[in-house]
Amino acid sequence: MNSITTDRHFTLVKDSLVHGKGVFAKQKIPKGTRIFEYAGERVLKSNLAQELVSGLTSLVYVMNLNETMAIDGERGGNDARFINHSCDPNCEVLYFNQTPYVYALQEILEGDELSFDYKYGSDADVEATAEQKREWFPCNCGAKNCRGTLLEN
Ligand SMILES: [Zn+2]
Repeated sequence: MNSITTDRHFTLVKDSLVHGKGVFAKQKIPKGTRIFEYAGERVLKSNLAQELVSGLTSLVYVMNLNETMAIDGERGGNDARFINHSCDPNCEVLYFNQTPYVYALQEILEGDELSFDYKYGSDADVEATAEQKREWFPCNCGAKNCRGTLLEN
């Protein structure tokens, strides 16, 4: 938890036109900047369904970590959990020592909303048609190249 407050230098959280809250640049962020960690409690993926039922998590802010573990930004998380998905994102998530960090993929201007590609299901066996993917996990990010779904195709 120690690095969380100092990591907020570049960003602020406010209402987003895309979905709910979003994370916005408070100042210009150069390409390649490590903006902050995607913080949260490390949880066993095999426990998540039960934890959803018992109200410990809504699963909304769960980030994949490896085959067995995920990070739940709802528990012990920071502002990174409010970053919205885009099919044409200005950020990416890179992992170092089993810890995800949000990096600027390009120069981000003051006031721009941060986004990254959630790529849901990229390590899961999601058996669905393109139509089902768009129905179950719809994307309305507005990008020219929008896939129409949060799932990785
Ligand atoms: Zn999209």
